[in-house]
Amino acid sequence: MAADTSHHLIYLDNNATTRPLPEVLEVMQRHFADSFANPGSRHAAGRAARKVLEASRESIAQILGAAPEELIFTSGGTESINLAIRGLVGTNPGTIALPHGEHPATLEACHALQRRGWKLHFLDIDSEGRLVEDQFSHLPWDDLQLVSVMLAHNETGVIQDLGPLAAMCQQHRVPLHVDAVQAAGKIPVDFHALGVDAMSIGAHKFNGPRGIGGLLIKAERTLNPLIFGGHQEAERRPGTEPVALIAGMAAALEAFDADPTSRFQQLQQLRDRLQAGLRERCPPVIVNGSQQHRLPNTLNIAFPGLEGDPLLIALDLEGIACSLGSACASGSSEPAPVLVAMNCPNEVLDCSIRFSVGVGNTEAEMDDAVGRIAGVVNRMRDNCSQ
Ligand code: PLP
Repeated sequence: MAADTSHHLIYLDNNATTRPLPEVLEVMQRHFADSFANPGSRHAAGRAARKVLEASRESIAQILGAAPEELIFTSGGTESINLAIRGLVGTNPGTIALPHGEHPATLEACHALQRRGWKLHFLDIDSEGRLVEDQFSHLPWDDLQLVSVMLAHNETGVIQDLGPLAAMCQQHRVPLHVDAVQAAGKIPVDFHALGVDAMSIGAHKFNGPRGIGGLLIKAERTLNPLIFGGHQEAERRPGTEPVALIAGMAAALEAFDADPTSRFQQLQQLRDRLQAGLRERCPPVIVNGSQQHRLPNTLNIAFPGLEGDPLLIALDLEGIACSLGSACASGSSEPAPVLVAMNCPNEVLDCSIRFSVGVGNTEAEMDDAVGRIAGVVNRMRDNCSQ
């Protein structure tokens, strides 16, 4: 029977990217027109654009618990992470520590350094996706030049408690970078309170525009730039700043900051409704990762007995946009490395799907999604057993 494609798309892939909020679009449209001048120009139009740029910087920094001069604008999460990793290590190779299952932006930046002589030390995570604390005292501290850890995992949504690791890093004077790309704009994040040295964010994960992100870096840390050019961003990231995108990023974060608790509850209610519905309508299912320490919007769930790729295709035909592993790794059928590191059994590795809800989703959509997903899963299981 041909799939019914007449029903509307239910977008449950907000960890891949989000739809910009209407107020973000409005702010950007205004600034593309009104603040087009180069913020580095000394004439009145340039000064006006700089004012917008600096007001946006102040607002973003303040929401994230940082000083304005600690925020460097970049093109997004990947660039911020590369700048932190490449910019914080010394010139002579040493060791970098990172957990198993980090985002490719971190892993590949570290692999690039490994090819030039750096050593990588992988940190263990437990079956819930949380860092194992016992290992911290056994790290090769004398040779460590950097530790980089995700605050909230893009696949599982699992949130790390960075306190113990940050304390050890401070004690050993080793810089700690945190990839907060999935956390910022979903949960409150305070740069100084985290006790880290650098933190990466990207606007398109919190209903802001694509093509803009930021690296927060403690004032006392020296950062070697990746690219060279003009004096922008205190020469740490030269290039004419995209004022309209930066204003859009500020508007998106301000929308979250206006009521973070409501945003959290809204996302959590939607995600929990989806999770409960799937448990009820297509058992057995296995929810991956800590359910206590998890982003409010993320559900990584296994459907034992099925395979991921065909299920993803069938869900797409049913109008459900979701993801198998991260978007950056899609196209490959390898299980998500983080699930492997969590020692998940094969039935979980074979078929885990990430649903990530967003501010535009509704309860009615969750009920509709449960019906569509359960229909596909149960039909595929019936076919397998025949
Ligand atoms: N870090 C994490 C945890 C992510 O989820 C992503 C995007 O998927 C990135 C980094 C890369 O961010 P961007 O897409 O803005 O380059």
